[in-house]
Amino acid sequence: MNCELQETSAAREHKKLGAQLGLFSTMEELGQGLVLWHPKGAVVRFLLEQFSQSAHMLNGYLWAYTPHIGRSQLWKTSGHLENYKDSMYNPIDIDGEEYYLKPMNCPFHFLIYNSELHSYRDLPIRMAEFGTVYRYELSGTLHGLTRVRGFTQDDAHIICTPEQMAGEVSFALKFSLYILRSFGLSEFKPYISTKPPKKAIGSDEQWETATEVLRNAVADAGLTAETDEGGGAFYGPKIDLKLYDALGREWQCGTIQFDFNLPERFGMKYVGSDGRNHTPYVVHRALFGSVERFCALLIEHYNGDFPLWFAPVQFGIVPIGETHNDYCKQLEISLKKQGLRAETDCSEANMREKIRRFETQKVPYMLVAGDRDIKRGGFSVRSRKHGNLGMMTLETLSEHIRDELEQGKPKYIAGGESI
Ligand SMILES: [Zn+2]
Repeated sequence: MNCELQETSAAREHKKLGAQLGLFSTMEELGQGLVLWHPKGAVVRFLLEQFSQSAHMLNGYLWAYTPHIGRSQLWKTSGHLENYKDSMYNPIDIDGEEYYLKPMNCPFHFLIYNSELHSYRDLPIRMAEFGTVYRYELSGTLHGLTRVRGFTQDDAHIICTPEQMAGEVSFALKFSLYILRSFGLSEFKPYISTKPPKKAIGSDEQWETATEVLRNAVADAGLTAETDEGGGAFYGPKIDLKLYDALGREWQCGTIQFDFNLPERFGMKYVGSDGRNHTPYVVHRALFGSVERFCALLIEHYNGDFPLWFAPVQFGIVPIGETHNDYCKQLEISLKKQGLRAETDCSEANMREKIRRFETQKVPYMLVAGDRDIKRGGFSVRSRKHGNLGMMTLETLSEHIRDELEQGKPKYIAGGESI
């Protein structure tokens, strides 16, 4: 990378933009690898989660909430204590029993599944959650939002019959591509990770069959995957989608993982068409991967210039003088009543300074109001992308931004609709 490009990339770095836009911080005082989401960053995160949750519900997923800790027996049953302990924190003692901070959400979703009897007619069940997990990472590897010790997965478990497995893996991959494309992310690399040499559960034959299902799903999606030899989870092979940050480094985001092991360990069952009990298959999948990491990559991808539907402040309102403050405050309230996000600068700064402040914050629209605008019942509009747009009223502004806001509405794709 040449010097100039490196400088431009450094300016796009999410830690730098995060501070400039007031999105988040990490600090020694709080603890390494832990994130504080500041109010504007919290809006970005909320919008990301809201988009994802609506898209999941629209496309056949059920939602769940589960705790941050679970009894040690649960992690024994799942095999985590045997195969994943290095990434888990020391247990907490509660009433003489050991509890662990969860490194994954799977066991909780399986307990929900097991709380009822299921027939083959109920399947597939796709259960999703924004589950916050805690994993040990070496302090030297921690970085901004991209590698942290506590993060939230847009996690889901698809519980299905063996016959549904290939179709579910394909749909999960299609859904993942849909989410990436919704944010204009077209540069990513798929990997298929195979059986780890040391810690792995299941026979070579099981691993080979499962890996074949993943390969077919990738080919069906028109993608070409590289192989990550031995990079699978301990319970099965997986497809990983890796994205790039501003410096061109690869980060694993979306993941779709085959599992022929945990359903048996948890004694999960469904009644088949033959009236007998069968063990379902499970697909673990996260599409952002980690909400934190995905936010970091989006901050860099947009260079902090978020599209209108996704901007923490959509409208910066600038009263030219103090006498225009009330009018501008009313305008702010009218926009908020329409579900829009607006902020008025009633400070003593002059107009130029107010405009500069909103520019630094990369606010998509600025609405400036003085005597002339107020007399005509409107405001002057400055678009970050298109410059001065002249005078508008609330009605003409709503009309102007309709298409831009439309981008933030999730689509139904579960019926085979194209993405
Ligand atoms: Zn899982």
